[in-house]
Formats: sequence, C-alpha cells, structure tokens
Amino acid sequence: MLYTSTRSHLAAGSAEVILQGIAADGGLFVPQEFPHFFPDNLAALHYQQLAEQIFALYLTDMPADAVSAAVAEAYALQHFPSGPAHVVSLGDDKTVLLELWHGPTAAFKDLALQALPRLLLLAKRQLGVAEKTVILVATSGDTGKAALEGFKDVPGVQIIVFYPAGGVSRIQELQMRTTGGSNTHVVGVRGNFDDCQNGVKMIFAQDHSTHFSSANSINWGRLLPQIVYYFYAYGQLEKQGRVKHGLPIDICVPTGNFGNILAAWYAAKMGLPVRSFLCASNENNVLTDAINGGCYDRNRPFFQTPSPSMDILISSNFERFLYDVSGQDNEYTAAAFQEMRRSGSFTIPASLRMVWQGRMLAGFATAEAAFAAIRHVFATYGYLLDPHTAYGYAVAEQFRHELGDATPLLLASTASPFKFPQAVLSALGVETAGVMETALPGLLSEKSGWRIPVSLDGLDELPLRHDLVVDAQQMAAVVQSVLS
Ligand SMILES: *Cc1c(COP(=O)(O)O)cnc(C)c1O
Repeated sequence: MLYTSTRSHLAAGSAEVILQGIAADGGLFVPQEFPHFFPDNLAALHYQQLAEQIFALYLTDMPADAVSAAVAEAYALQHFPSGPAHVVSLGDDKTVLLELWHGPTAAFKDLALQALPRLLLLAKRQLGVAEKTVILVATSGDTGKAALEGFKDVPGVQIIVFYPAGGVSRIQELQMRTTGGSNTHVVGVRGNFDDCQNGVKMIFAQDHSTHFSSANSINWGRLLPQIVYYFYAYGQLEKQGRVKHGLPIDICVPTGNFGNILAAWYAAKMGLPVRSFLCASNENNVLTDAINGGCYDRNRPFFQTPSPSMDILISSNFERFLYDVSGQDNEYTAAAFQEMRRSGSFTIPASLRMVWQGRMLAGFATAEAAFAAIRHVFATYGYLLDPHTAYGYAVAEQFRHELGDATPLLLASTASPFKFPQAVLSALGVETAGVMETALPGLLSEKSGWRIPVSLDGLDELPLRHDLVVDAQQMAAVVQSVLS
C-alpha cells in the first residue's frame, strides 16, 4: 500500500507517511487506493479485532504482529474500561448515537490519539530513526489533552502543548495542567488559538535540526483509527437488529476539521454501506456553504459557540475530500489550496459538486437549536447530549423528512456532556451564576442523574504540574529549552 500527496505525485509507504505527518509539498497523504472490507461476520468482531484487520490493510510495510500489539495496547481496558465505542439508541427515535467518549479524556479524539503514538513508534523502528521526536500541538481544548494522554511516557518522544491562556474551559485547562508523565510540557500562550497555531507552524518551518511531528488530524495515523469505529457501529446495528447486513445507513457527524466525517467517507469507499453523509456545522458554517454552494470562503466573521471544537474556518481535511471527488486530481487540488492561501477562498466547479450531490449533505444549526436539542432529548429520552453532538442532532432533525424513517441514522457523539457542563446546564435551564466552574460537573450530575466520567472527576484536587505562561514570541525559546 502506497500513499500519495494530494498536491503532487510524491509517494511513500505508511511508516514514512506517519513519521512525516504532512507531505513535503504541503499536501496531505492519502492512500493510492482503498482496499475492500466488509466481512460477513462483521457483527461478531470485537473492536480490537476490527482495528487489527483494518490497520493491517493500510500498514502493509509494518510487521503484522507489531501492528496487532499496538492495537491491543491502544484499546486496552486500562484506557477504555467499558470499551472504545458504544452504540446507543434513543427509544423510538430513529437516531442512533455512536458514543466515542469513553476514553481517558472523554472526547472522541482518544480513539485516534491512543493509537497514533504507538504507530509512530512502529514507524520509527521500521525506518531505523533513533533520534528524539518532538510532538508540537496547538490546541483549542480537546486535542491537547488527548495528545498528552496518548504520548505520555512514550520513549523517544517529547510532547509540547500550547493552548491560549484563558481561552479554553476551566475543565480543559485543568485536564492539561494536571497531566503526569516525564515527557509532557503544557504551556499557556498570551493570545488566541490562531497565535498558538501560527507559532507552531513557524517553529516547524524554521527549525530543521529537530525531528518534529504533529498530532493533528492532518496525520494519516490519526485518520486511520477513526475508520474502524464506523465499521464497528454498523456491526452493532446489525447485532441490535436495526440493519440487515448489506443494507445502507446514514451517518451524521458534527464537524470541525472534517477529519471524523472523512473517516466515514473512507469507510464507505472500502465497502461500508452508507447512503448519505451529513456534515453538521455550527454558526461557523464554511463547510455548509462549500458543500451546498460550491464556494469555500474563510473570509467571514468567526463565532465563538458552545461547541469550541467545531469553531474552525479552515477545515484541513476537506483537501483530502476534494482530492478524492476530483478523481485524485493533484493539480486541481494544489491550485485550489494555493488560491485559498492567497485569497482565503476558492470555488468548486459544478462538475465536481455533482460527484457528491445527494451523498454528502451539509447543514448548520444555531446555538439556540443545539440547546433546544439538548432539552428535547433529555426531556424525552433522559439522555444528555454534549453541545457538539447537539449541533449534529439539530442538523439531523432538519433532514429528517428528506431522509425518511426506513434507514437508520448514526450520529457520532463526540464528547461527554460533562466536558461542557456550563453549556449543558444552561440548555437545561439550570441557573449557574455564582457556581464555581469546578462545581459544575457535580451540579450536572445532580440534575441529570448521570455519573461524572472518572477521568473528569476530582480534577480540581489533582496537583497542577504545569504553570508556564508565555508570550507568543517566546514559543520557539520554550521549545529550545525543552530540547536542551
Ligand atoms: C475535534 C472535535 C470535533 C470535530 O471533529 P473534526 O474531526 O475536527 O471534524 C467535534 N466534536 C468534538 C467534541 C471534538 O473534540
């Protein structure tokens, strides 16, 4: 299995691709072809078995037994005590939730970030790379902690996470600043997420003597693990009698960087029967416009919403999608993203839009609609949605009539509601003025009868191990001091 860049004919094996993260031409690595996978016994396979089989199809240059061992470690009970993914239906509602937040940081990114560090080690071993790898992460909240948990104490790796000081939720900040491990570094930056991201990009571009890598979803090693849970979900739907083997489902994904929904698209390319994909956005609806109207335009106001992990105007993985629907046209893709860098926008020809018409659907919801979804689902089914999943639910509702009731709709549930207790409590109409932020999970638990995930419980009692806060211009110096 070879991979190629979305912007040229550069090709590489999986070890190279995972180690590099991004192609030298600035493009993203994608598989040259998608292997077929839709086994008859899908419903009987455990999560680990599925992951092993799917990883093996893509990591053909790595020893199979080492890949199996990496999978076994990544999805061990120690990280996912109740299993990596749960498929939960809401009574008579046709929507079925794919809960992806039973890992160490209570968001779906754990499913990829428990696997990526292990794949990176395999890649280094495969290529005989002995030097230290430095993982640089700029985070708006969820990625940072998930990456820290994944890379904590991984030999030969240092991880440095930059977050906007005061720009993440109290729970997210505590999650990061209490991280243990001898190779973890968490640094607040006086600035916003873009300052962190730009600082990281500059360090990547300027320091060529260090081996840097990224934990962002531009890395194929983060995307591959996400394909697995769509197959798992289908198998569970079969087991629950909600779909017959071979009949299609619809999939709705609350989307930011377009990574999670792209993994579903790739699963379908491999043979998973999917009728429609529903790309759900919040008020930052750049993807809704691109998919429905054919113009990707980031020149627009940026909204801070109750779903911060979807507050994104540049969805990196949309590049992989365009490359795919253009019939792997690297010249078109390179030109489109060059134009994007130059002017902040590009248009997509109607002939390309025809390729996804009726298959990739898109919509966005407002915060009011997302809050109404939280209220409705709790009142009707006693089930708590987190704000990201609630945006997805609200968008799915808009398409309910068009999609009909015969085909099950799988909604990716991307975070535990306890990660965003303030928003969930206000949606439920609970007064939170005067309540300390660290007391909010307890209040949500009391009001809902739901239990706080172990990983989020008692965060304020853990020792703060990281307290460095710097200006954006000092980020490179921080990296130097960690290295020396
Ligand atoms: C990262 C994240 C998303 C967006 O996922 P993408 O792969 O970036 O589209 C949605 N919800 C939550 C809770 C997240 O952490």
